[in-house]
Amino acid sequence: EVRLRFAPSPTGYLHIGGLRTALYNYLFARHHDGKFILRIEDTDRTRYVEGAIENLIESLQWAGIEYDEGVFIEDGKLVQKGDYGPYIQSERLDIYKRYVDELIEKGHAYYCFCSKERLDKVREEQKIKGLIPKYDGFCRSLSLEEAKERIAKGEEYVVRLKLPPNKDIKFDDLVRGSITINTEDIDDQVLLKSDGYPTYHMAVVVDDHLMGITHIVRGEEWLPSTPKHIYLYEVFGWEKPVYVHLPTVLNKDRKKLSKRHGDVSVEDFKEKGYLPEGLINYLALVGWSPEDNEEILTMEDLIKKFSFERVSKTGGIFDKDKLDWVNAHHIRSYDLDKLTRLAIPYLKEANLIDDQFVSERYDWIRTLVETVREGLSNLSEIVGKVGIFFNNQIEPENEEALSVLKGEQVPLLLNAFKEELENIEEIDGEFAKTIMKKIQKSTGIKGKNLFMPVRVALTGYVHGPELVSIIYLLGKQNILDRIEYVEK
Ligand code: GLU
Repeated sequence: EVRLRFAPSPTGYLHIGGLRTALYNYLFARHHDGKFILRIEDTDRTRYVEGAIENLIESLQWAGIEYDEGVFIEDGKLVQKGDYGPYIQSERLDIYKRYVDELIEKGHAYYCFCSKERLDKVREEQKIKGLIPKYDGFCRSLSLEEAKERIAKGEEYVVRLKLPPNKDIKFDDLVRGSITINTEDIDDQVLLKSDGYPTYHMAVVVDDHLMGITHIVRGEEWLPSTPKHIYLYEVFGWEKPVYVHLPTVLNKDRKKLSKRHGDVSVEDFKEKGYLPEGLINYLALVGWSPEDNEEILTMEDLIKKFSFERVSKTGGIFDKDKLDWVNAHHIRSYDLDKLTRLAIPYLKEANLIDDQFVSERYDWIRTLVETVREGLSNLSEIVGKVGIFFNNQIEPENEEALSVLKGEQVPLLLNAFKEELENIEEIDGEFAKTIMKKIQKSTGIKGKNLFMPVRVALTGYVHGPELVSIIYLLGKQNILDRIEYVEK
C-alpha cells in the first residue's frame, strides 16, 4: 500500500504552489488506493502563525482534497485521527530526542557549543575567501564526556549531523532522475536546536519513516536537502522512500509566484469566485498533462489519469488566462443551485440584493445566474454582468445603440410590446417565450429590426444574454418603466 503525506508548515496561508503539491500527493495516493496523510510541521517556532493550521485545513477542504489520517477540524476544534499520531510535530519532541540520542551514541551526530558570534565570523571569513559558507567542524572532535560535562554545567548547545568526508550520496528522483552530491558540499546540518526542537531535516526523516511514508512528493526547493535525509536513512538503517521533486510554480516572467505580484493564496482565489473544481483542474495542469492532452477534467478524471511520469522537469507556468478559461468551463456546467448559492454573496456584497430578497425571490436569482453564467471566468465578475437587471433608467451604450432606438418603426414596436403587457398580470416563462412572436405578427416587423430595438430599450446594449431571459427576469413593471424612459 502506498502512503503519501502533505506536510505544510503553519506559517500563514496555503500558497497555490502548496495546493498543487497536496493535489499531486492526493491524486497519486487515490490512484493507487493508498493513504493520504496531513502532517503539520511546526518545529520552527519563529515562523509559527496562530490560526494557520485551521486555515490550511479549511483550504484543503474547500479544494476537495481529502485525507485519511492527520489533523482535522471537528466542531471548530483541531482533532487528530490515525494510527501513527501525533501528526503535529511539536507534540512529538520526545520521539525526536530519542533518535537524536541514538545518532550521538553511534557517532553520527555531535554536540556543538559554537556561539552565534563565532558562526557569523566563520561564515564571513569563508565568504571573503569566496567559499560557500559552511560549518567549519570546530566541535566535531569534542569527546562525548567533555560535551556532557559542559551540558551539565548548563551551556547551550545544538546537535549536528556528523557527515563523513568526501562521500558521494546518491539517490533517484522520479522526475529529476539520478542525483549525486558529495558530502564536501553539504553542511553538518543542525538536527536539534538549542530550544529543544528538532530542525525540519531531523523531524521529516523520523516522521516519514515512523509513519510508513512510501513516496515523498514535494517542491523542488527541498532537493538540496534530500542528500542529508538520505544519509540519515542510511545511518538509521531504514528503508528509503521514493522521491519526487516537483517543478516550482512560476509566473509568466518565470519568477516564483509571490504575494507582491498578485494572488497566491488559495483564499485569494476562493474570494475571487473561482470554483474549487476549476482551480484544481487548472493547477493539475501546471507541470503535468494527461496522456490524451484533455484539458477539462474533474477530480475523478485526474485520479484516473495521474502519473509522475508525465510531470515536467521544468517550472510550471501559472497562466491566469488559462485558469480563467478552465474555470469558465466549470461555471458553465456547474449544478445551477450550487452555483447560485455561491453567487449570492457577491450580489449581496454589491448591495444588489439582501437576505429578504434571497428568501422571497430565490428562483428569480437562480434564473439570473443561469442567464449570465455564460462568459463568467469567476463569480466575482457576476456583479459587472447583472447591472442591466437592477436599473430601469437605461441609456444606450454607444452610438450604434442610440441609432437603433431612432429607427422609424421603433415607436410602433414599443407600443405593441406595451399592449401585450396590458393583457397580463405578470410575465411567466411561457409569455416570455412567445411575446416576440406575437409582436412580429401584430406589427409585421421581423428579425433584427424586431429584436434589436427591444434589446437596446431594455438593456442599453446591442449584445447580451438571451432576450427571452431578459424579458422574464425584468418582469412587467420594470419593462414598462424602461419603455417609458426610452419614449421620453
Ligand atoms: N514542512 C515543509 C514545507 O513546509 C515540508 C517539506 C516536505 O514535504 O518534506 O514545505
